[in-house]
Amino acid sequence: MPTERNPRCGSCPSEKQATFEAEIAIHFPGLEGLDKPIVWVFPNVRICLECGRTEFSIPKRELGVLATGLPVEGAIISIAHKTEKAS
Ligand SMILES: [Zn+2]
Repeated sequence: MPTERNPRCGSCPSEKQATFEAEIAIHFPGLEGLDKPIVWVFPNVRICLECGRTEFSIPKRELGVLATGLPVEGAIISIAHKTEKAS
């Protein structure tokens, strides 16, 4: 298990945090979210091994999809149960 000495967690006094690689699918909430793209991101996540607080950043391109609800060129999204690369 990867462990690193890091500054203190933002939620608890622990200094036990580690960085992992992740795949995260972000959905718009509610029924109206069903018509919006699901945004996939593949960040390095920093996890507090005491309380579970997790930190990661969303790349600008994918952030654009979340800000507008519209596909952005090059962003990996899913619409209506199929995964495709927007063009
Ligand atoms: Zn913590």
